Amino acid sequence: MIRDIINRLVRYHKFRIDESPIYVLSRELTPYELLILIVLSQNTSDRLAKRAFDNLISRFGRPLDPLKIIENPDEVISCIRISGMYRRKYETIRRISKLVLEKGQSFLDNEDPHVIRNILLSIEGLGRKSVDVFLLFRRMYPTFPVDTHIRRISSRIPLVEKVDYDSISSLFIRELDNDVKMLMTAHLVLIKHGREICKALYPRCDMCPLVDICEYARSRRILQNKRL
Ligand code: SF4
Repeated sequence: MIRDIINRLVRYHKFRIDESPIYVLSRELTPYELLILIVLSQNTSDRLAKRAFDNLISRFGRPLDPLKIIENPDEVISCIRISGMYRRKYETIRRISKLVLEKGQSFLDNEDPHVIRNILLSIEGLGRKSVDVFLLFRRMYPTFPVDTHIRRISSRIPLVEKVDYDSISSLFIRELDNDVKMLMTAHLVLIKHGREICKALYPRCDMCPLVDICEYARSRRILQNKRL
């Protein structure tokens, strides 16, 4: 069922993972830079997060140096302001920078993913989704980050009885057989579907390739028929 859903969405959206910014950037950036981009992406659009990130690169150059980020809080804040919640994001970025200064950049790429997960989760401001995005896209570790769009679609079809992070994430990991490329594709294409079709307020069920298997769409049809 999950594989079928993802294949339908990939065809419908003509989705190609190698055209996705996070997929491309997770290979081009240093792990430290990728973590900063992930923090900037919290609660904002990809476009504004990327603009904030580009501001940092224009000001501080590449590769980003954690010492400069710690030593220049006002300038960093002015670069990232556009992404919103900038004070909180700066504090998270500062904590990540301290960690990288202590342990060196290479540990993010070389340390055991379970250890990395625990260390990153202990940093205030980094939640499950952010850490799973890093592990999946940078470390190619078979995990499944769940965001608000994925949670909404999972609850509307529904894919799980209990709509919580663990239930949704483990369902996808299991059903997609730990296939990292499929997990990346599923994560990205579901977000695209949530933004463009299965919107929070007015889902466009009439255009949706999942309409025949969706409980939410069925209930809406029944409700509309009753009103006629
Ligand atoms: S049919 Fe409607 S509610 Fe169901 S997944 Fe598609 S857009 Fe969302």
